[in-house]
Amino acid sequence: MNEFALIARFFAEQVRHHRADVVLGIGDDCAILDVAQGQQLLLTTDTLVSGVHFPESTAPYDIAYKALAVNLSDLAAMGATPCWITLALTLPAVDESWLAAFSQGLFTLANEFNVELIGGDTTRGPLAITIQAHGLVPKGQAIRRSGARPGDWIYVTHHLGDAGCALQHLLGQRIIKTSLLAPMLRQLNQPDPRIKEGLLLRGWASAMIDISDGLVADLGHILHHSAVGALLQVDDLPLSTELRQAVSLSDALHHALCSGDDYELCFTIPAHKKTAFDAFSTEQGCSMSCIGRITEEQQLLFTGTHSSLLAASLQGYTHF
Ligand code: ADP
Ligand code: MG
Repeated sequence: MNEFALIARFFAEQVRHHRADVVLGIGDDCAILDVAQGQQLLLTTDTLVSGVHFPESTAPYDIAYKALAVNLSDLAAMGATPCWITLALTLPAVDESWLAAFSQGLFTLANEFNVELIGGDTTRGPLAITIQAHGLVPKGQAIRRSGARPGDWIYVTHHLGDAGCALQHLLGQRIIKTSLLAPMLRQLNQPDPRIKEGLLLRGWASAMIDISDGLVADLGHILHHSAVGALLQVDDLPLSTELRQAVSLSDALHHALCSGDDYELCFTIPAHKKTAFDAFSTEQGCSMSCIGRITEEQQLLFTGTHSSLLAASLQGYTHF
């Protein structure tokens, strides 16, 4: 199977829903897109390398799903509507059943969010997947990392730590009961990009980021870019029932704070908007937990009865 037949069969022909704003998709030297007036275009790209960003044994469906999910998560983190993607695929060999499963994982998620594959590149080499995602935001409304102010409340979506715990299981570093494992593995392999939440947060959040490297690290980016600090209420960290049953409370908190791969959103809400925001997010049926507050002093501190369970390296304070 030559390169062009491969692109046609597993990618171009799999695009079922063509967006009206795609003037020209896969097939020419470039794609042509109509960008609606009054909107700003947001671009992001992420590469997943086999053996580095996912274990070599990962199913091709999951590899594609995650490669797209992590890019959509970046768009969600700025409040963007995802629109188009390109795919640069480096393959060690042409394996048709592998490609079929990969393509299925990619289009399952792309179709869910009305995102169209508009081009890419296909090369031979060690397995690596680069996706570039493009999204739109009304002019001036993108939510940056730099907008947090002292007194703002800190929130996260859903729960934290499951993916990092599941990864330890896959790497043979801990054993999780089979009955608890499935939802935790899904969080690792097929994270849900929080697009809906990101869009709802436009006009509310003063700063936002997605959690790819762990809450402490990623909240740290908000603190650094906003030149502020934070006080985290450890007792309020949202933990899934599976994580609570799978490991000790101390390990669960450690995963929630430091493990990567959550792809939840962390954002800040100005104090004067908190009451209205809490009512709004409840009304919208969103799972969002308030976990602390932005402080003036540029350090990250922990409070709460469970803070004594944190590793000594965290219990002190972290400077940014
Ligand atoms: P060029 O040599 O002009 O860069 P290619 O031969 O690499 O073009 O690609 C032909 C067409 O197929 C282009 O429109 C390109 O965007 C698209 N394409 C190549 N690889 C992929 C892929 N993995 N997924 C989607 N589109 C692809
Ligand atoms: Mg060309």
